[in-house]
Amino acid sequence: MTPRPAKNPLHPARQRPCIGSAIMLLVALLASSIASAVPQAEIPTPEEFFGFAIGTDEKLARWDQILEYFDLLAETSGRVRVDEYGPTTLDNRFVSVVVTAPENFADIDRYVDIGRQLADGRSLSQQQARALAQEGKVTVVLNHNIHSSEIGSSQTSVQLIYEMAALNTPLMEEVLENVIMVLVPSSNPDGQIMVTDWYNQNLDTDFEEAPMPYLYHHYAGHDNNRDFFMGNLVETRYMFKLMFDDWAPQVYLDQHQMGSGGARMFVPPFPDPQSPDIPPLLFQEIRLLGGQIVTDLQAEGKKGILTGEMYRIYGQEGALNWRFHNVVGLLTETASARIASPVTPNSGGRAGRGGRGGGSRGGRGGRGGSSEFSVAMVDPWRGGTWTLGDIVDYQMIAARGVLKQTARNREDFLYNQWLMAQETLKRAEIEGPYAWVIPIDQSDPNTAADLVQRLINQGIEVYQAGESFEAILSTDPLPLPGFIPPDPAEETAAEGGEEEENEEAEEVEEAEEVEEAEEVESEEEPETEPEPVTYAAGSFIIPGAQRGRPALIDLLEPRSPVIKYEYRDGPVQRRYDSTAYTMSMQMGVDVARVDTQFDVTTTTISTAVPPMPEIPNRASSGYALDPRINESYVAVNQLLAEGVEVYRSSGPLTVEAGELPAGTFMISRRTPEIADRMQQIASEMRVPVFIDPEGSGSNMPVQISGARIGLYKPWQASMDEGWTRLTLENYGFPFQSVDNARIREGDLGANFDVLIIPQGVQPRTLINGISEERIMEPYAGGVGDEGIEAIIEFVEEGGTLLTFERSDQIVFEHFNVPVKDALQGLQQPDFYLPPAVLKLDVNNEHPLGYGMKENAFAFFGGGRAYEPDGWDAAAGNMRVVATWPSEGRVLASGEMLGDEFLAGRGAVIEVDYDDGKIVMYGFRVQHRAQTQGTFKLFFNALYMTQ
Ligand SMILES: [Zn+2]
Repeated sequence: MTPRPAKNPLHPARQRPCIGSAIMLLVALLASSIASAVPQAEIPTPEEFFGFAIGTDEKLARWDQILEYFDLLAETSGRVRVDEYGPTTLDNRFVSVVVTAPENFADIDRYVDIGRQLADGRSLSQQQARALAQEGKVTVVLNHNIHSSEIGSSQTSVQLIYEMAALNTPLMEEVLENVIMVLVPSSNPDGQIMVTDWYNQNLDTDFEEAPMPYLYHHYAGHDNNRDFFMGNLVETRYMFKLMFDDWAPQVYLDQHQMGSGGARMFVPPFPDPQSPDIPPLLFQEIRLLGGQIVTDLQAEGKKGILTGEMYRIYGQEGALNWRFHNVVGLLTETASARIASPVTPNSGGRAGRGGRGGGSRGGRGGRGGSSEFSVAMVDPWRGGTWTLGDIVDYQMIAARGVLKQTARNREDFLYNQWLMAQETLKRAEIEGPYAWVIPIDQSDPNTAADLVQRLINQGIEVYQAGESFEAILSTDPLPLPGFIPPDPAEETAAEGGEEEENEEAEEVEEAEEVEEAEEVESEEEPETEPEPVTYAAGSFIIPGAQRGRPALIDLLEPRSPVIKYEYRDGPVQRRYDSTAYTMSMQMGVDVARVDTQFDVTTTTISTAVPPMPEIPNRASSGYALDPRINESYVAVNQLLAEGVEVYRSSGPLTVEAGELPAGTFMISRRTPEIADRMQQIASEMRVPVFIDPEGSGSNMPVQISGARIGLYKPWQASMDEGWTRLTLENYGFPFQSVDNARIREGDLGANFDVLIIPQGVQPRTLINGISEERIMEPYAGGVGDEGIEAIIEFVEEGGTLLTFERSDQIVFEHFNVPVKDALQGLQQPDFYLPPAVLKLDVNNEHPLGYGMKENAFAFFGGGRAYEPDGWDAAAGNMRVVATWPSEGRVLASGEMLGDEFLAGRGAVIEVDYDDGKIVMYGFRVQHRAQTQGTFKLFFNALYMTQ
């Protein structure tokens, strides 16, 4: 956070205590007492400032005006401070607005410190915790306008900050005294601007209802809040900084919108299933805050409030992943207007159509807001007109409710966070783990360090081993949460005289256990004491006993939740989003869990960097880069751009340090410039560079060049297209976006070698696009039949077509490829596969599989299991590069029924098609720029061989 220059002298940025700041503080105190004496009339109302009341039909305050207003409030009210976080992706200001009583600003460092100590929980006695809770203030973070088309909350921000800055009601005074509110008025300012401009530009034209033809974030669409555990976007990283570095909040609320029909507002608690890794007290506080919101809404005569149904926010989806760090996280979902235009939805609809707000997609949450009376909705809405003003109204009541409840129970919210920390620490002690170890000597240490950095960004405490050490690897799954084995010592003491009998019983049990164990072992391996594993110095160590333990379990452990059903013989209870986020698997990083204590000297780290590779000497025959390391591709792309000749080996190579696999990048030029450049790659990028690789006679290096990449960009904005762009940019692959007009033009081979159709693009939308009745030129229409012809011709004449997950439908429908999807038509109860992490067997001797582990993991979001359909394998025009495993479970993490339907079938296939090729990825190979473990399968398709 870079505080704004002293525009507001009343509230200097938080500083370390020093004489200078003490004087500043004194000035601040004096000035703020003056400020509070200033007649509140000097604070302009939103209506005076914007020229319309917030929530007026067809009127939106734009981001730049909103900021101007907040800056003004910061100058005129002693209660407001605007903190700058830096530029957004498109160079707008990202800010938070802090509102509290003027006197609280003076002690704000102290309050943050109190929050931090209570949240951490490790160094405080109960008495100390009580005392700190008494002294502290509750920090409530409100995050608005994550999904930019859910525009209401950006306007609510204005109204809320104004009321808190200007009003002197008893409630407001109580809130200001007890609460520090940190409001992020828009966590995607770029999108706020895009949506506002698009709306204003089309208002009162024929295209008033035209959908915005591009993503509301440069790289992300609706899934910008699913980025909160990865931090791929700069806006997400600002939120991390806010949540973990700058503040130690107890409560978090984000306000969303859903479809226009059905319920008017969803308020937590969230329905089942819920993550049992989170301390139960947190769910009860969600209930408490949700209860306050629904009560206040009802008291103000608001109808259509749905609670406890519909939004099964379970895992790392959305900004609510702070719940995995013991921050009480809530969201609301309000019915949408059409941006700022009123709508008149049918009241009788069973559910919002789910549109903008995510709403009630099939099976996501039971009734999803039926209009019948029920305990989930005691006062149904009977229909009528619904406006932006209604949205602002409902959201204001929800925000006030949370502020009121936290102000009144300030001490409890502070103390209870300490209690949650105690629970978390106790669980670590009883259920484990002692620590997770991320070995530094693994096939891609650079990506391992990247994973660790992402954990540090979200407040995880990480250490680095100063020496090599031994620890016993745990291979059993982590015990089920809440399972606390009885303490034998306590039992014995309590039961006294029955001791003998118990001993006998225990012996019998033990004998049975041994028998069972032996049976299992006879099938598996001979019985052995677990051997300690040696981990190298520099390995990362993440203690289990820390407040973020629930997050660590969710991000580092394979998940195998018990599948729950809606009712007997009914469908499975679906989660809102993915059933597994296991980041280590998605990123292809080896993580070891250790449940028993070990000794090693460590240092705590705030940044994770890959080990510094040996700086290469001048080579006598050439240089090599390891294809298992994702960062090697960045280096190779730079070298290619510089005109350096790069080759790939077709088999393993030997270097002094050991063996490099097939697909190793080779640079045979040995000029002094190349020598310097290779040293620079090693020292600056920390990418290992090897010298003088030697291969066997059969190893034929092939020269590669960067493909001319075309990425299809539909005007029906594709989220996958955005994330694909980010992935390509992050790794330095040059590409061009290809729109409908370019495809219709034909002769694609003149500009492109590879054409990518993003996941989610279906043939019908590809061909037809958005009709010209709904949107203006140049956004109307699709590629048309001539565009499909152009794509077919492109492949026939030597181009490569890449399809992601179900964008392969274009291949099924328009190409003559004898392959089918084995999952077609399968359904519950035999088959159920929501988004999850699956095991993947890779042929890493095939050029597309170069650098991959043989046994990898794939993120499956609704993909394929390819099998031949009348195809003659002997013809050899189709190669299976990766397969769903035929032995054991296909599921690696998450939920799934019916592994056998995938077993042994194709996950990535390459098909020769005339002079060209089609590569079909039956899973999310570059999902949200986060599945680094499978990026290589994608990247390898982006080089041409000569
Ligand atoms: Zn939303």
